[in-house]
Amino acid sequence: MRLTHYLLPTLKENPAEAQIASHRLMLRAGLIRQEAAGIYAWLPLGLRLLRNIERIVREEMERAGAVELLMPTLQLADLWRESGRYDAYGPEMLRIRDRHERELLYGPTNEEMVTEIFRGYVRSWRSLPLNLYQFQWKFRDEQRPRFGVMRGREFLMKDAYSFDLDEAGARRSYRRMFVAYLRMFARMGVRAIPMRAETGPIGGDLSHEFLVLAQTGESAVFCDRAVLDLPVPAADVDYAGDLAPLVAAWTAPYAATEDVHDAGRFEREVPAQRRLLARGIEVGQIFYFGTKYSLPMEATVSGVDGVELPVHGGCYGVGVSRLVGAIIEASHDGHGIVWPDAVAPFQAGLLNLKPGDARVDAACESLYAGLRAAGIGVLLDDTDERPGAKFARMDLIGLPWQLLVGPRGLDGGMVELKHRASGERRELAPEAAIAFLR
Ligand code: ATP
Ligand code: MG
Ligand code: MG
Ligand code: MG
Repeated sequence: MRLTHYLLPTLKENPAEAQIASHRLMLRAGLIRQEAAGIYAWLPLGLRLLRNIERIVREEMERAGAVELLMPTLQLADLWRESGRYDAYGPEMLRIRDRHERELLYGPTNEEMVTEIFRGYVRSWRSLPLNLYQFQWKFRDEQRPRFGVMRGREFLMKDAYSFDLDEAGARRSYRRMFVAYLRMFARMGVRAIPMRAETGPIGGDLSHEFLVLAQTGESAVFCDRAVLDLPVPAADVDYAGDLAPLVAAWTAPYAATEDVHDAGRFEREVPAQRRLLARGIEVGQIFYFGTKYSLPMEATVSGVDGVELPVHGGCYGVGVSRLVGAIIEASHDGHGIVWPDAVAPFQAGLLNLKPGDARVDAACESLYAGLRAAGIGVLLDDTDERPGAKFARMDLIGLPWQLLVGPRGLDGGMVELKHRASGERRELAPEAAIAFLR
């Protein structure tokens, strides 16, 4: 991309309405624009973040055997009457009427709809286990939308739903998701700690929230520091095998959110020097809820002996849009965002420090073409602004690498490569810079 033909409305000043670093930086780096309270447009650079996070989540969901579909944002109220949740859900639900006075709602979650789809097609235990997931916008009319995309009203969620013949099967499905979550967050460059959690209005008896530690997190959390040192399962983890020992290792150290925290147990189980009292951002949650939806909605399959059985379900959410904010909370400095490589919207920024200078322009064009040919995502700053403004903007938007091209370096046949996270700089020949970034 060339900055002159891109839309990157960066701000020099901190917007007054933003209280936390990630919200400030997302506005300043031109990632989002507020359209209404808790409702945001994703500008081009921001959208690339969403897509990168989505890609990692998708890869890990597929690895764990889940199957992607896409359900609509609008749902019929009658569907929610089947489960009894239409009236129970309260003012967080956005209720809508169409021109025929039919009652609809903008989905805050999709258990009912996915159960309706499941019961329409799946008849036999032979089709199980089945895990269906989607990336879709949700709407929750939050009482206090705040912190930008962290608590939006419209937000992007990955939501998955598992179907199994019995509780033992459902717990295996739950463990597959537990492991997939460990992997996906680690790949995004953040440490999300699984913690025992309350099940809330979705119900059920087994649930973990995954939290990224950050001072600005909305939940108080209590954990054993031992959980910080556990190894994340490798890509070749055997999803067909027994994941119980792995999950047991990750759930052995004490880790709980304030809702379920047991101070007595915490003090008994965790030596004082290992006690971590912190705050966290909930970036995902997994639930086993059994037959909560399959019973009222009559989602049954025929079992091994031909008898109809209600399926056992679980649901698994990831806050894709919230993650953009959570990653920034965990990875920024005084100059701006520092994107982990795996989610960065572009791998490198290419700075033309003297546009109009034929030699510098030609070097930039050749580097730009070479980087693109090598498959490296690159944003070329070809504007005619001062170098200082260009440096500040690149630091602000946080691409992992910056390539600085100016007349002085080119005199010696060199360009400068700067690593955003460490600030380290080195001089390289242009071809060597491409080879390095490849
Ligand atoms: P919270 O406790 O923050 O209100 P939740 O427990 O209500 O979240 P879930 O129903 O577990 O949310 O939804 C799955 C995921 O969706 C959450 O873990 C979170 O990452 C994300 N999420 C939930 N509400 C919002 C929101 N208002 N804005 C952005 N992301 C959200
Ligand atoms: Mg909520
Ligand atoms: Mg919650
Ligand atoms: Mg939750």
